[in-house]
Amino acid sequence: MKAVVHTGYHTFPSLKEVDKPTPGPGEVLLKVAGAGACHSDVAIFHEFDEGLNPQMDPEFVLGHENSGWIEELGPGVEGFEIGSAHLVYGPVGCGRCRACTRGQDTYCENAAEMPYAGIGLGRDGGMAEYLVVPARNLVPLGDADPIDAAPLADAALTPYHAIKLALPKLNGGGKSVLVIGLGGLGMIGVQILKALTGATIIATDMKEEAMAEAEKLGAVTVPGGEGQVERIREATGGKGADVVLDFVGVGATVKTAMQSVARQGRVSIVGIGNLSPYEWAFLTTPYEAELVNTYWGTVEELHEVVDMYKAGQIVPQVTRYSLDDALEAYQALVDGKIAGRAVIVPHQ
Ligand code: NAD
Ligand code: ZN
Repeated sequence: MKAVVHTGYHTFPSLKEVDKPTPGPGEVLLKVAGAGACHSDVAIFHEFDEGLNPQMDPEFVLGHENSGWIEELGPGVEGFEIGSAHLVYGPVGCGRCRACTRGQDTYCENAAEMPYAGIGLGRDGGMAEYLVVPARNLVPLGDADPIDAAPLADAALTPYHAIKLALPKLNGGGKSVLVIGLGGLGMIGVQILKALTGATIIATDMKEEAMAEAEKLGAVTVPGGEGQVERIREATGGKGADVVLDFVGVGATVKTAMQSVARQGRVSIVGIGNLSPYEWAFLTTPYEAELVNTYWGTVEELHEVVDMYKAGQIVPQVTRYSLDDALEAYQALVDGKIAGRAVIVPHQ
C-alpha cells in the first residue's frame, strides 16, 4: 500500500510503497478515512535532531491524527462492528500503569520502555491506506462524518485538554482569554472556548485571513507587532488576560504571553516552537501567574470532543487532499499556506 514515510531527520517525507499491516492480538486494522497533517510533523522531519527522541527515529509512517473504518479484528478482539467509523486516540502507553488506566497514555509511567511515542510518532501512523491500532485506542464516531472528524484526534483534543485545565481561571465573570496562533489547533481552540466559557476571547495570528475567520467565530482580534501587549491589556480593561493559550510557542510569543497575562492568571504553552530557555524575572512577572506546558489529552476527553463535534460546537475547517497529493499538503503546511487543517483522504 502507499504511505507517507518519515525517512530521516532534516529530510522532507516520501510517498512510498510499504506492506499492508496485519492486526496483532488486541489490535484492529482500520481502512483510513482521514489523517490530519499537524505542525508537529514538520518539527519531527525538519527541526528535530537525531538523539532528541530515539522513540521517533525513522523510518515510520507519519500521521498521528486519524479516523477510519474497522476492516479486520486481531486475535482476541470482540464487540466491534466491521465497517463502523472510529477516531483514533494517538498516544499509546503500557496500558497498565495509573496514568494509562485513567486514559492518560500521554503520561504513561512506563513510557521510557515503549518502543515508540505514539501512533504516527515512531509507530506507523495514518498517512496510508490502512492503519493498525490497539482496540483500546478507538473512540466511536457513530454516524458523524469521519473525514472532517480526523482533526479532533489532535487539533481539537490538545486545545480541549489545555482549556479544561485552565477553566478554573475563567470562573467568576468578566474574564478574558488570549489565543496566540490560529492554525489547526488555535482555530478549534477558539470554538471550544466559545462553547465552554463566557470569557472575552482575544485572538492573534500573523495571517489576516486567520484573524478574520476567528472574528467570525466570536473572537476580537489584535494584530502582532509594536503595541500588541498594550492593545491586549486595553481589551482586558487593563488587567491582562486571565488565561493565555500559546499555540505557537516561539520565544517571541512566550514573551507576549507572559507580558499579557493577568495577576493570578495562567499561561499554557501548547506550541512546541521554543526549544531554547525562556528568561523569567520576579519583578516583571505578574504575581501568582502560572506558566505550564501541556501535551495532547486523555481518551476520556476525546469522547467529550466527539460529543462537541456531534453537537456542532466544533466544526473543523478542513481542506481535503488525496494520498497522492499528501506531500503537497505538508509543503503547504511548511509554507504557512493551510487555513485550518489539511486532511489526507486515502480512499476517495
Ligand atoms: P499550524 O501551522 O496549523 O498553525 C500555526 C499558526 O500559528 C498559523 O496560523 C501561523 O500563521 C501562526 N503563527 C506562526 N508564528 C506566529 C507568531 N510568531 N505569532 C502569531 N502567530 C503565529 O500549526 P498547528 O498544527 O495548529 O500546531 C501549532 C503548534 O502546536 C505547533 O508548534 C505544533 O507542533 C504544536 N502542537 C503541540 C501539541 C501538544 O500536545 N503540545 C499537539 C499538537 C501540536
Ligand atoms: Zn502506562
